Amino acid sequence: MNITVIGSGTMGNGIAHVFAQNNFKVNVVDVKKEALDKAKITITKNLDRQMAKGAIDEVAKASTMNNLNFVDNLFDGAKDADLVIEAATENVAIKLEIFRNLDSLCKPSCILASNTSSIPITKIASVTNRPGQVIGMHFMNPVPVMKLVEIIKGFKTSQEVADKIVLLARQIGKVPAVSEDMPGFISNRILMPMINEAIETLFQGIGGVEEIDTVMKLGMAHPMGPLQLADFIGLDVCLAICNVLYDGFGNPKYAPCPLLVNMVTSGSLGVKSGSGFYDYSSGTKELVVASQFKKQ
Ligand code: NAD
Repeated sequence: MNITVIGSGTMGNGIAHVFAQNNFKVNVVDVKKEALDKAKITITKNLDRQMAKGAIDEVAKASTMNNLNFVDNLFDGAKDADLVIEAATENVAIKLEIFRNLDSLCKPSCILASNTSSIPITKIASVTNRPGQVIGMHFMNPVPVMKLVEIIKGFKTSQEVADKIVLLARQIGKVPAVSEDMPGFISNRILMPMINEAIETLFQGIGGVEEIDTVMKLGMAHPMGPLQLADFIGLDVCLAICNVLYDGFGNPKYAPCPLLVNMVTSGSLGVKSGSGFYDYSSGTKELVVASQFKKQ
C-alpha cells in the first residue's frame, strides 16, 4: 500500500515517520522545499531518540528512512497513492484546493484522508467526486508518541472505508476512536470547553494560573494543567476551535472567554510567541507565570 502525506510540518513529518517505520512506502509532499528538508532532519532526530531509548535499532532506522521519499510536487507525490493523508496548513481554502487536485490526480480507488483539527470532513469531501472515500484521520502531537487516532466519518463516508482506516490505524500501532462529523469531533468538543472554562475561572478571579493548573494536575490526574496545555497548543488555535464550536452549534455555552480573545488579539499566543499564561522567554524548563497573571 502506497501512502502519500501532504504537508511536512509538525504533524506531516510525524505521520510519515510512523507509516515508514511500519514498512509502508511513503511519499511526503510539501510546497516548500525548506519544509521538506526540515522534515527529513526532524525524522532523523526522532529516530535517533528512539534508538537512544533502545526502542529501535540501526537497521530499523535505515529501513524507515529508506521507505521515505520527499517530493515537492503533488502530481509525482500522489499519482500512485492508495491512501493520501493531508496534513497541510489549517486553512479551508488551502485544503479544498488540495482535495480538488487530489480527486483529479489520484486513482479512483485511492482513499483521501485529512488530519484537520476542526474543518468538517463533509465539507472537504464535497469538493471531490468520491465523498464515500473521504475520511478524517486526526493524529495527535507528537505523532510518533501519541497512541490515539480520531477517525472522522463524513456524512457520506462509506462504512467499508471507515473499517479499512480503523484497521490501518491498528496496523501502525495506534488506537482508533471513531467520531461522527460534528464540530470539534470528540476530542476538541470536550477539550476546548474545558480549556475555555479554565480561562473563564482565571478571568473571574476564582483562582490564579498556578492554582487552576495545580487543581487539574494533582486533583484530576491530568499530566498538564489546562492553561499550560492551551499555551502549548497555541492560544490562537484554541480560539479558532472555540469559534468553530460556537458557530457550529450556535450555543452561547461555547462562546470564547473575553480574556482568551484579548490575549490572542494582543499577540500572547503561548509557547510559540514566548508568552501566554506562562512566560517562556527565559528558555528554562521551569514554569514561570506570565507577569500580568502574577499575584500582587
Ligand atoms: P504546520 O504549519 O507545521 O505544517 C503545515 C505544512 O503544510 C507546511 O510545511 C506547509 O508548507 C504545508 N503546506 C501548505 N500548503 C500546502 C499545499 N498546498 N501542499 C502541500 N503542502 C502544503 O502545521 P501542522 O501543525 O503540522 O498542522 C497540519 C494539520 O494538522 C492542520 O490541519 C492542523 O489543524 C492539524 N493538526 C495539528 C496538530 C498540532 O498539534 N499541530 C494536532 C492535530 C492536528
